[in-house]
Amino acid sequence: MPSYLKLDRAELERRATKAHERLKKCDICPNNCGVDRLAGQVGLCRAGADVEVASWNLHNGEEPPISGERGSGTIFLSHCTMKCAYCQNWPISQKGNGKSTDASGLAGMMLELKSRGAHNVNFVTPTHYMPQILEALCIAVDGGFDLPIVWNTSGYEVMPALRLLDGIVDIYLPDMRYACDRQAKKYSGVKMYSAYNRAGVKEMFRQVGDLVIDADGIAVRGLIVRHLVLPGGISGTEEIMKFLAEEVSLGVHISLMDQYFPAYRAETMPELARKITPEEYQTAMDIMERYGLHEGWVQEHV
Ligand code: SF4
Repeated sequence: MPSYLKLDRAELERRATKAHERLKKCDICPNNCGVDRLAGQVGLCRAGADVEVASWNLHNGEEPPISGERGSGTIFLSHCTMKCAYCQNWPISQKGNGKSTDASGLAGMMLELKSRGAHNVNFVTPTHYMPQILEALCIAVDGGFDLPIVWNTSGYEVMPALRLLDGIVDIYLPDMRYACDRQAKKYSGVKMYSAYNRAGVKEMFRQVGDLVIDADGIAVRGLIVRHLVLPGGISGTEEIMKFLAEEVSLGVHISLMDQYFPAYRAETMPELARKITPEEYQTAMDIMERYGLHEGWVQEHV
């Protein structure tokens, strides 16, 4: 049974209400724009009061225990709190492609994905729509929704927002993109990424712990960290693996990703204008090994 069904119904509604109030002076992510999204203002992410969805469908390309055999019910949300120069989903994250809907509409998508056999509902880039997702969850539960929630996030989070998800999200799937704030600012336009990202990942781990997989090989609870290896050591793999091994857990599941390619504005930056080499990926795998991090997924070839 997913965690949110064990929460008192009034508590679930209280969380949704508290989250909604934060939209009046938005501080849902570290950008802390302070805009009144309920009055039509937008901040750095460009997200408004209504949720915008680019697509929703069954997806088989996530990590094996997330996609399973029937697929993960992914809901791709428009806009993003980060401005990655190399974003592969830039028409959705940066241009904001998608259609506006309300909490009832979002709840309908969740229920449709359940009826199509999804193992979970996987909110992709959810941070800036956390209040609307909680509102939708209340409605979806009334309609019989009972799938685990996957929070598939850039990992650029603030503690008060994450605390509202405690006991609601079962599976956290955060990125750890950089160890260095200078690189995060230059390539993703965010400040103090490392501190917010590390504190966020620690809090996620406190809430859900190491990954738990059921007898059918499907994730039911836990943390999976995604680390995209960028060219030239920009992603700070050594520091991130050291942090995970020493401050999170040796049992943490890591998805070490090799699929970087120069999308969006990356071609204009010489250091980002190429794929990674097999040697760079091998180095990242060797670092994981050296820190005793053996759980998760690596790719066989670059
Ligand atoms: S969610 Fe958007 S508006 Fe709110 S603080 Fe973050 S970037 Fe600003």
